[in-house]
Amino acid sequence: MMSQLSRQRVFFELKAALQGEVVVPGDYLYAQSVKIWNAAVNKLPAMIALCENTTDISSVVKIAGEHHWKLTVKGGGHDWSGLALAEDGIVIDLSRMRGVKIDAAKKEATIEGGATAGDLLAAADQFDLVAVTGTGSTIGMAALTMGGGYGPLTPKYGLALDNLISAELVLSDGRLVNAGEKENPDLFWAIKGGGGNFGVVVSMKIRLHDAQPVLSGQFLYPWSEAGRVMMACNEYAKSAPDELSVITGIVPGPAGECAVIVALCWCGDLHAGEMFFADFSREGKPLTQKVQQMRYKDLLSQFDTFETKGNYNDMKTRWLPDLTDESLAVLMKAGAERTSDQSTILLQYFYGKPARIPESSSAFGLRKPHILVLIISSWSAGDDVYRNIHTKWSRELSNDLAQHALPGGYPNVLTTEEPEQVLAAYGKNLARLQRTKSFFDPEKMFSSYPISLPATIRMHKNKNLVKSFR
Ligand SMILES: Cc1cc2nc3c(=O)[nH]c(=O)nc-3n(C[C@H](O)[C@H](O)[C@H](O)COP(=O)(O)OP(=O)(O)OC[C@H]3O[C@@H](n4cnc5c(N)ncnc54)[C@H](O)[C@@H]3O)c2cc1C
Repeated sequence: MMSQLSRQRVFFELKAALQGEVVVPGDYLYAQSVKIWNAAVNKLPAMIALCENTTDISSVVKIAGEHHWKLTVKGGGHDWSGLALAEDGIVIDLSRMRGVKIDAAKKEATIEGGATAGDLLAAADQFDLVAVTGTGSTIGMAALTMGGGYGPLTPKYGLALDNLISAELVLSDGRLVNAGEKENPDLFWAIKGGGGNFGVVVSMKIRLHDAQPVLSGQFLYPWSEAGRVMMACNEYAKSAPDELSVITGIVPGPAGECAVIVALCWCGDLHAGEMFFADFSREGKPLTQKVQQMRYKDLLSQFDTFETKGNYNDMKTRWLPDLTDESLAVLMKAGAERTSDQSTILLQYFYGKPARIPESSSAFGLRKPHILVLIISSWSAGDDVYRNIHTKWSRELSNDLAQHALPGGYPNVLTTEEPEQVLAAYGKNLARLQRTKSFFDPEKMFSSYPISLPATIRMHKNKNLVKSFR
């Protein structure tokens, strides 16, 4: 807990240094900024810096460092555990830095650190170009890319991080550096998978691709078809061409009952895609099915409608090597035992181009084909009295899946509560990642999910013992 005097000093130093505003509890803009995707998070930073430019960011980093204040960065606010909000610390809010510039000739985008997937796609679409994003348009591109970035274009073009050309970061001493293949290659390697653990990403240069209409297919099946459809999906994914992406999972049906969704996206020759979808639609009897051509950016808006704004959430994740009868049985049991009819279990298939990239090319630790399982326990405000019951459901499912899963899990969804899972996610890349962290952020100022060994006790310059679990 910081003293009132320290608070006032830091507040006035920030105010004097920044072009952007500094807001505190009670301010309208503060209340807006602390609202993140997950309403279950109620962390309260001491102050929030609404940065306007790189100089602002550099000033906040220096002032936070001089006063030994906890510091976090907020991009799109989608980290479900609230990693973007420093409890009783300072937040660098990047919502005023969402600019995107397109170089159509080079097929490159330069985005500011706070740009979302929607910002990037809207700008690229004007030039008939497209970028690899996740499935949601409001997710921050910088954090999505630094953690991985699985999305509908991933089988064809790689993870979002495979499309990163370079990045500019403000390091813990306030310096601005460039990270790319030639400049600071270790840092470049580390931010491709190591998350927001190295500095504040002020801008990123991202490779774009020619945009063509995509074919989206959404099939909703009754619970009685669940096992057969999910297994059929698994078989399709195993032999799928790079043009196809496959998501399946357990979701609420029209009346909140358990149902199974299959969301396919085809980005290639449309006639071939239509034939593929026609073949798939012979699997089972869907309750509803919608196959349509659309711009990729509109596909993302379609996924946004699955998010219930203002809901409370608990998220867990596993990487499965395959869907087997045993792992399917675990998923089906959990589906039938959901404690909230808004909870979902999504399976996103990883294969194609990103699986042909060597594991050593970036910090991201898993390149062999796998299934990303996202377990999202979700409930409304009125149901929050039963929070423990809902979180028990997601945690038990994660534990039950562990015996069928690969080590680790998708770091972008892991938290400080799961350090072993985070560390295991990096496999052979962990040692290099930790060395790079020690070199570029020796004081561990930047904390995303924990890539360092847990519970280290460090002596700070002000002689205070600070317990760090970053
Ligand atoms: C509903 C939902 C859907 C999702 N779908 C997908 C998906 O399809 N594919 C996928 O791969 N992932 C997906 N994710 C995971 C998502 O990619 C991560 O949660 C990501 O970290 C969110 O980034 P953000 O900027 O929106 O979040 P924030 O909460 O703002 O930031 C997340 C972390 O990154 C740090 N950070 C943010 N911006 C910067 C920056 N510019 N510089 C340095 N550090 C920064 C923050 O400090 C924090 O530690 C999803 C998450 C949710 C909740």
